[in-house]
Amino acid sequence: MKKIAVDEMMNFCKRKGFVYPSGEIYGGIAGFWDFGPLGSEIKKNIKDLWWQYHVHQREDVIGIDGSIITHPSVWKASGHIGNFIDIAVICKKCKTSYKIDKHEIGKIKCEKCGGEIESKGEFNPMFTTFVGPIKDDSFMVYLRPETAQLIFTDFKLVYDNARLKLPFGIAQIGKSFRNEIAPRNFLFRSREFEQMEIEYFINPDKKKECPFLNKKIEETEVSIYSEKMQEKNQASEKMTIKEALRKKIILLPWHAYWLAVELKWFFNIGANPENFRIRQHTKNEKSHYATDTWDIEYSFPFGWKEIEGIADRGTFDLTQHEKYSKKDLKIMDEKSGKKILPMVVAEPSLGVERAFLVFLFDSYSKGKKENIILKLNSQIAPVKTAVFPLVKKDNKLVKIARKIYEELRKEFYTIYDDSGSIGRRYARNDEIGTPFCVTVDGESLEKNDITIRNRNDAEQKRVKISELRNVLIDLINGKKNFEDL
Ligand code: ATP
Repeated sequence: MKKIAVDEMMNFCKRKGFVYPSGEIYGGIAGFWDFGPLGSEIKKNIKDLWWQYHVHQREDVIGIDGSIITHPSVWKASGHIGNFIDIAVICKKCKTSYKIDKHEIGKIKCEKCGGEIESKGEFNPMFTTFVGPIKDDSFMVYLRPETAQLIFTDFKLVYDNARLKLPFGIAQIGKSFRNEIAPRNFLFRSREFEQMEIEYFINPDKKKECPFLNKKIEETEVSIYSEKMQEKNQASEKMTIKEALRKKIILLPWHAYWLAVELKWFFNIGANPENFRIRQHTKNEKSHYATDTWDIEYSFPFGWKEIEGIADRGTFDLTQHEKYSKKDLKIMDEKSGKKILPMVVAEPSLGVERAFLVFLFDSYSKGKKENIILKLNSQIAPVKTAVFPLVKKDNKLVKIARKIYEELRKEFYTIYDDSGSIGRRYARNDEIGTPFCVTVDGESLEKNDITIRNRNDAEQKRVKISELRNVLIDLINGKKNFEDL
């Protein structure tokens, strides 16, 4: 199905209470967004599902929550103060301004009209502020442009506290800030956003073996757009992760593993694999310390764009922090019995807002009467169940419906709705992605049952009130299919 334009999605999100321009009553401010009642639920679900999958369901990954403002030396050591540079450009023809990366200078034309672009100079996108009352350079600090560096600075403490053994990962979800030259495409490029990141540490001698690669992981299939395919202007090619490793397109088994793990996270919770590809960084894009870097890209209405980067950072960050802090960050590798500085073999880094857009674009669809149905996976959907009495004025029905509502909302986000016709109530819930609606009708009084309506096909089934809670829990968690009720 053809995706709607990004502006249409923006209007839809505002109308339904998903996302608003921040401070809209004052005209808004470019690159900043507020999440409304339903958007904040979706965002929370995305973060919770990411944390469950990457931290709670794994023995080898634990989490932290670092501060947004930290010691300025962190950003000197990481290279952000010296090298985190965007180039501001303006199109000579249509006057659109935006940012490009250093390696793109002299190569690219205006992304809007194809005109010639002109550089307006270098620009460090880190926001600054001051700690304490004196606004003097010596008190100037930065709002973090990524969450990752806190993982490196806390590395030794976390290692000791959590009694970790290599290989292991440290995860973090949190706000990041970049003073983007030209925020655009709704949430896609904002100035304040959230990242979900992992630094995965291994013994550098074990770079070539990944103990977690198994059949299930290797069979993950995706369109692959290698450096060679890009150089030769070829189309991307669909293949399994196993094939990509065998053909030496993906160089490191660890990298192949993390790419598959990340794709599976998206696919397991309803994203459409057809809209995904993985793109290898070209020589010019790659950091000097990386052997290989891949981006997971999604086919947005405004083109293929990065949603998640998976870099291999080597020992660069820990080496830099050892140098600047003059602290020993080496740890004991029990397997080899040696003290080593671990390397980061993969750094999956995903923006929450970009994931939010992926799930919205993939689920936005139209019914027979051009009505909007948001076919969100029930774990991502903001409201899990809506409970209705068929007739608002029938006290007996209302009493049962209210009781069911009170019970269900102890388990998951449930709403009660008695306004308008039943068809209107179903339509309203289809639009916000509520997977299941529960209606109490005349028959409920005699048979102690209700109807559950399935959003995606409007099918209805009768279920005993006594079984409703468990049935819904299984449906929402994907343990039961509606057809099997
Ligand atoms: P881009 O080239 O699009 O600016 P990047 O390569 O600078 O992205 P990274 O530094 O790799 O991005 O950040 C990791 C992830 O953080 C990105 O894949 C994206 O999901 C998210 N992200 C980065 N910048 C922004 C932004 N301005 N708005 C929303 N999300 C962002």
